[in-house]
Amino acid sequence: MIDHQDWMANILKNHRDEALNRVSELLSDTTTDENGCKLTNTKHRRKVRFRGGQTTAYRFIYCVKQNEALRFYEVIRHRCNNPLCINPDHLEVGDRRDNKHDDWLFAAYGVDPTFL
Ligand SMILES: [Zn+2]
Repeated sequence: MIDHQDWMANILKNHRDEALNRVSELLSDTTTDENGCKLTNTKHRRKVRFRGGQTTAYRFIYCVKQNEALRFYEVIRHRCNNPLCINPDHLEVGDRRDNKHDDWLFAAYGVDPTFL
């Protein structure tokens, strides 16, 4: 089984231009809503296959844009709370505990306070 951190580290080191092209393609195949979210034209979270690995589109985009290979316990958080959004400006990294905290804040206030 492929180690995702190594997979991404290799992409960033050796294939970053190609990966940036893929990011542009992904972003152009979206619909922008009134919140500035770039929504994939898919029913579920979009996946990306690239050079022998696969991950979610937003994780791929975050790693390539930030030039950062995330560790397995690091998750992408959607500041807009829309899992179909792949706008890099709406993505940030957190750990799994943060994600639970965000869910709680969203339930309590209806929006992530850091996004205001
Ligand atoms: Zn968004």
